Amino acid sequence: MNNYYLELFEGRKNIIILPHILPDGDTIGSSIALFYALKKLEKRVYIILNDKLPSNLKFLNANSKIITTEDFEKLSIKPDLIITVDSSDIDRLGDRAYLLDLCSEVLNIDHHSTNTNYGKYNLVNSKAAACGEIIYELLKKLKIYIDKDIATALYVALSTDTGSFKYSNTTPSTLRIAADLIEKDIDFSFINTELYQNKPINKIKLLSDVLNSLELHFDGKLAVIYVTNDMLKKNKIDISDTDGIIEYARDIEGVNIAVLLKEFSDNTIKVSLRSKYDFDVSIIAKKFGGGGHKKAAGCTIYDTIDNVKNILLNTFRENFR
Ligand code: AMP
Ligand code: MN
Ligand code: MN
Repeated sequence: MNNYYLELFEGRKNIIILPHILPDGDTIGSSIALFYALKKLEKRVYIILNDKLPSNLKFLNANSKIITTEDFEKLSIKPDLIITVDSSDIDRLGDRAYLLDLCSEVLNIDHHSTNTNYGKYNLVNSKAAACGEIIYELLKKLKIYIDKDIATALYVALSTDTGSFKYSNTTPSTLRIAADLIEKDIDFSFINTELYQNKPINKIKLLSDVLNSLELHFDGKLAVIYVTNDMLKKNKIDISDTDGIIEYARDIEGVNIAVLLKEFSDNTIKVSLRSKYDFDVSIIAKKFGGGGHKKAAGCTIYDTIDNVKNILLNTFRENFR
């Protein structure tokens, strides 16, 4: 990490942090860690996000550190620095992309290999398992003490993006950082219960419908599951609480690739892709304007859910060996 990033924080008072849309544990944990850390440098810090938080991350946002664009506009503040977190391209900022017009000083902190380096400053490391790792290193360089609150948020970032330290993105460095965070006296057991043993009952009911939608293709090597609008309505669950469902399809014996199609509206389908072995699903996601990592990627396709499935099956057929 080049040291010039350290000077970025000098003389800048108002700092905006932007997590990605449809937030997950890494983007929220990393943003909140950065929020606490920059507060220690006596900055005015605003995390701006209009999306709902998944219910298992709400414990991190006690005292509502996250505000909406509407709240922010009421403050009439001109930012001196904008930090995007875990967003491979500007589309991942959704309806907040206009905020980048307020200030050209943009620091893009990310770990996606598909990152487009859209910032004026790009702190992108695709070897990091989570943005939380990059932020941990940054705080060390800035000599900001990692207290219990920061450690808790960073631990959430690392744990969620590595599937609780199971996925192949987990490195010795990831585990060393996690060990250091645990030494900050974080409530390890509480955090894990909040994250993983705290699912809304309606999510479990939804799961039953989603599993019933399972289709296997290419001799059982590719699994497709669906979250339709009807399923969400029937089970009274918000789309923000559908994280992790794809894992049930990926974890089937013999399945190499899992596809989850989430219906946002009639012709807006959010596609999640997971790979278990060597197939790089980020290549497929990129073909449709999305991105991600080798084993976890996504994109949005504007068509009916059936057409999206067929388009994807054809694309996989061409690329599958
Ligand atoms: P998801 O399936 O939404 O959990 O996303 C899996 C991975 O792909 C995450 O690292 C996301 O940041 C990334 N990803 C998902 N959707 C998109 C998209 N539309 N554009 C770029 N990256 C994406
Ligand atoms: Mn993310
Ligand atoms: Mn991430």
